[in-house]
Amino acid sequence: MKVYNLICEHDHRFEGWFSSEDDFKAQSDAMLIACPVCENHSVRKLPSAPRLNLSGAQASKSDVEQAQKQLLDIVRKIVANTEDVGERFAEEARRIHYNEAPERAIRGVASVKEFEALSDEGIDVLPFPVSDALKSPLQ
Ligand SMILES: [Zn+2]
Repeated sequence: MKVYNLICEHDHRFEGWFSSEDDFKAQSDAMLIACPVCENHSVRKLPSAPRLNLSGAQASKSDVEQAQKQLLDIVRKIVANTEDVGERFAEEARRIHYNEAPERAIRGVASVKEFEALSDEGIDVLPFPVSDALKSPLQ
C-alpha cells in the first residue's frame, strides 16, 4: 500500500491510498481520483517527504529524543562495565588477546593505524562513539 500526497487544481491537498505506483497512474489517467473538497479530477502527486519512521507515522521530536536517550543509556552501561585504559588501549587489547593480562572489557582511545593493526592481528575491537555521546549533559 502506498500513500501519496495529492493536490488538485485548486490547491486542495489530500492523501490518496493506492496499491502501487501503477495503480495510482491507472486511476489518475482514468480520472477516477477526485478531490474530496471540490471533486476536481485534475489531481497530481506531490513529491513525498522522506519519513524516518518505518511505521509510516511521522517521527515526532519526542521520538528522536527518546532514541537519543536510549543510545545514551547504552553508552553509559558500556562505560560502567568496561575499564578505561585510555591511551594504552591498543597495548592492553593486545596483552588481553595474548593472555598476558586478565580478560576483561576495556575501552580507550586508539588511532586508526592502531585500530587496523589490531584487526589484522585478529583482535576484535569496536569503534565506539563514546566521547560524542557523553558530551551530552548528564541528567
Ligand atoms: Zn480541490
